[in-house]
Amino acid sequence: MMSRHLETQCIHGNQDFSWQDPTRAVSFPIYQTATFGHIGLGQSTGFDYTREKNPTRQRLEETVAALEQANGTVAFSSGMAAVSACFELFSPGDHIICSEDLYGGVTRLINTVGKKNGLTADFADTGDLERVEALLRPETRALYVETPSNPMMEITDLRACAEFAKRHGLLLIADNTFLSPYLQNPIALGADLAVHSGSKFLSGHNDTIAGFVCTATQELTDRIRLIEKTTGGCLSPFDSWLVLRGIKTLAVRMERQQENAGKLARWLEQNPKVKRVYYPGLCSHPGHEINASQARGAGAMISFCTDTEQTARQVLERVRLITFAESLGGTESLITYPMVQTHADVPKEQRDRLGITETLLRLSVGLENAEDLMADLEQAFDGEPGGTADEV
Ligand SMILES: *Cc1c(COP(=O)(O)O)cnc(C)c1O
Repeated sequence: MMSRHLETQCIHGNQDFSWQDPTRAVSFPIYQTATFGHIGLGQSTGFDYTREKNPTRQRLEETVAALEQANGTVAFSSGMAAVSACFELFSPGDHIICSEDLYGGVTRLINTVGKKNGLTADFADTGDLERVEALLRPETRALYVETPSNPMMEITDLRACAEFAKRHGLLLIADNTFLSPYLQNPIALGADLAVHSGSKFLSGHNDTIAGFVCTATQELTDRIRLIEKTTGGCLSPFDSWLVLRGIKTLAVRMERQQENAGKLARWLEQNPKVKRVYYPGLCSHPGHEINASQARGAGAMISFCTDTEQTARQVLERVRLITFAESLGGTESLITYPMVQTHADVPKEQRDRLGITETLLRLSVGLENAEDLMADLEQAFDGEPGGTADEV
C-alpha cells in the first residue's frame, strides 16, 4: 500500500473512497440503518446488523487505525466505553498497575466496576519504572498509562514501558487522548493497545461523544471486536460520520491549537498571579525531553497553579471567551477546575499527592486568536472580584 502522510490520511484514510462509490460522492455517506438484507441463504453483503458492523463506522475505524499505525481499531460510544472494553480483557484476580495521575473517570472505573469484577490495581508514577517493578505480582496483567497525564501533564516514557511490559508479560495500554494520533503513536512505540476519547481532539468540535481502542495485533483486534459486539457499546452511524468529518481537519487544528498553547504557556509563566505552569512544550517541564523523543509535539493542554484559591475561583467565574466547562480538545477553549470537576472521585490523599489542589486549573486551548485568549485571561486575573459580565 502506498504510504501516506498524516495530513492526507486525516482526509482520505488509506483508501480513496470516492473512486469506489458509484455516485462518486466526496463525503462518505451515513448508513443510517439498523440492519442489512441478506442476498440469499448463508450469504451476506459483509454487513448484517449495525451493532456488529456498519459501513460509516468501519470507514472511521479504518481511518483511525491508519493514523495510529494500528492493526485494527474499534469505535465505541464514548471514551469510557472504550476503556471499559479494554478492562473486559481481564479476569477476576488479575492485577493492573496504572499511572497515578489518570483521567478521573478511569480511576472511578477501577475503584468501582473493576473492583466489583475482582480486579485489583495499584497506582504509581509510571515515569519511575523501579517503583512500578516493586508493585509487580504474579497476577499482574497490564500496565495502563496516560502521557501526558490528566491533569498534571506528567510524561511517561512509552518505549521504556513497552520494553518493561514485554519483559514481564504485561499488556501495555496507553491513553493517547491528550496528544491524538497526529502527535503521538503509542503502538508504533511498542504499546499493545492505544485508547482514545474521540470526544476530544479527534472529533474536535465539542459536539460528539466517542471512543476508540486501537490494537497492535489481529488477535487483540478480534478480542476487542467480540467484546464490543457482545456488550454493545458501539458508535452510531451519525456520530461516526461526525468524527470522520472532525478528523479531516485534525492536522491543521492540532498545529494551530498547539501554537496557541505554546504562546499561552509562555505568557502564563510571566504572570505574577501564576505560580507554576505544566506544559510539556516548556523547557522547564521535567518531561520535556522524553516527550520530544516520543511525540511530534506537546499538544494544546496546559495546567497551571494560581497564587491563591481566590484567584483560581475568580478566573473560572470571569472568563468570557473561554468557557468554564469540562472536556477538552475542541475548537472552543475550555477551562476546568480538576479538583471539583474531572477528579472529584479521586481520593483526596491521592489528589494532594499529585498536586490536584484548589489552585490548579486546566486549560484546553482552542482555535481562537491567541491574543484574544490572553486578553480574556488578563481581564479574568485582574478583574475586581464580584464584577459582572456586563462591565466590559
Ligand atoms: C475524556 C477522557 C476520557 C473519557 O472519554 P469520554 O469520551 O468522555 O467517555 C478518557 N481519557 C481521557 C484522557 C479523557 O480526557
